[in-house]
Amino acid sequence: MPTIEVAREAGACYGVNRALELVRKAAAQAEGPIHTLGPLIHNPTVVESLAQGGVTVAGAPDEFLGGTLVLRTHGVTPDEEARAREAADSVLDATCPFVVRAHRAAETLTREGYQVLVFGEAGHPEVLGTLGHAPGATVVERPEDADALELGRKVGVVVQTTQSRARLAELVRRLLGRTDEVRVMDTICEATSERQAAAAELSARVDAMVVIGGRMSANTRRLAEICAGACARTHHIETPDELDPAWFAGAEAIGVTAGASTPQEQIDEVVAAIGRLTGATCASAPAAGEKDGARG
Ligand code: SF4
Repeated sequence: MPTIEVAREAGACYGVNRALELVRKAAAQAEGPIHTLGPLIHNPTVVESLAQGGVTVAGAPDEFLGGTLVLRTHGVTPDEEARAREAADSVLDATCPFVVRAHRAAETLTREGYQVLVFGEAGHPEVLGTLGHAPGATVVERPEDADALELGRKVGVVVQTTQSRARLAELVRRLLGRTDEVRVMDTICEATSERQAAAAELSARVDAMVVIGGRMSANTRRLAEICAGACARTHHIETPDELDPAWFAGAEAIGVTAGASTPQEQIDEVVAAIGRLTGATCASAPAAGEKDGARG
């Protein structure tokens, strides 16, 4: 009989659980409306359930119409935060502490005169927020993009929390020897690196792999890339109704992992749905989203 195994580290991380707890508590206590500045996390199912509880999404601080404004896990620029504090009756800061660490690193490098490179996805909200803390910084999306850069004497690198360390090492390799100093602020969060390592390990020994999480979620997309590198039958889904029985034809071992913005109940729903489609039983212990604690 086929088996389903959930990666030993998968699903909602410390920063996402913390943000959800802050917002749900505020929604239960608030007298006025609550808005999040952009989606709280990159998970449409969770954002929809928050909306049903009265927590709606505002596109910009200027759209704010009163009540409480929540700064989301990905963080904001100093300018956006100032505008939010000016416009809102109150501001609830749900920025993940590991994103705040990246902001502080960007500020330090800027203050100390480094040419700052932000290694991450151009246009991603977290990267936009970090750029706001390092005026003049350059975004580097792929290690090979660094080859075309004109480097000064001191180069500082700050990293989007969801990058892989292997890609960071490749970027650093391409910078060394072209400048007097390369200073790397390793702001990759442990939740990300642990989920990537567990996904790589699991996807290398299963016949089919399912990755759960929002399509806008950078860390989920990275997990899907890593799994696809080891298991050709890798599929990225947001909800169980996207599952296709054909994906599992002949599969004896089915792996499941989930991005850091995927709550445990969504993982459980997908595992149950795969079981119904294939007759497979779940062989793994509960996923590790609950074990993160403050490590992120
Ligand atoms: S993935 Fe890391 S940085 Fe992002 S919210 Fe979770 S703990 Fe924070």
